[in-house]
Amino acid sequence: MENLEEVWDRLQLNEEENVSIEINLSEESGVKAKRSLVGKIISNRVISKEVVRRTMEKIWRVGKLLEFHEFRANSFIITFANPGDKNRVLGGKPWQFDNCLFVLKPFDGFTQPHKMRFDNEEFWVQMHNLPLACMNKCIGEQIGATIEKVVEVDAGEDGMGWGSFLRIRIECDLNKVVARGRTVNLQGMNMWVPFMYEKLSRMCFRCGRILHPEQGCPGEVVGAVGQFGPWLRASIVKFKKSDESRMRADEEMSGVGN
Ligand SMILES: [Zn+2]
Repeated sequence: MENLEEVWDRLQLNEEENVSIEINLSEESGVKAKRSLVGKIISNRVISKEVVRRTMEKIWRVGKLLEFHEFRANSFIITFANPGDKNRVLGGKPWQFDNCLFVLKPFDGFTQPHKMRFDNEEFWVQMHNLPLACMNKCIGEQIGATIEKVVEVDAGEDGMGWGSFLRIRIECDLNKVVARGRTVNLQGMNMWVPFMYEKLSRMCFRCGRILHPEQGCPGEVVGAVGQFGPWLRASIVKFKKSDESRMRADEEMSGVGN
């Protein structure tokens, strides 16, 4: 069947169709919007709305039942009992459903659903092996900006990020290959700064993307095999070696993406 969006795009409107109708929104819809989010689960499998609702109610620990409306496959409008629950969930991003990324955005009642974008999400990126002089907000912002938009640097009031790594919250473009690190030059010396991602969901270890383009995996293996793997996950320290190899086998075969 022909793509309906393409059919609608080429229509030549007659006079009646072309008259613009002025819309007045009711106040009630605005109040509900303040308690709502829109979200999309990044998975090839179509998941039942009820399963998602029941699972996320447990994960988010919301006292009252959530209202879930599906507006496209795997895409939902989620209304919370109060704005506090909604804000807590937004602040705890990224979320996962069955290891797949659940991209969440503030409710947007003004964009047509087919034009909503779910191709970016915030992640806490850990920057490892930084010299102590670089463990601060300023350097974090500088390196982070080469990935994408820096939302926050986890630093104290003095701007220093003491610890074994520097944590930066970054809004990542899910279409891009996941950044594995950056080469930093300090006093004429190049050094490799590896990144690890907290709560990193299922991704494609073949091309290094969380979201494949519509045509599927571009299949560009970057260099040799093993260029991407579960070691990108900050929680990897909790896994035993056996889990690690099992996960790698699972995920490389799954062809996740759209
Ligand atoms: Zn891929």
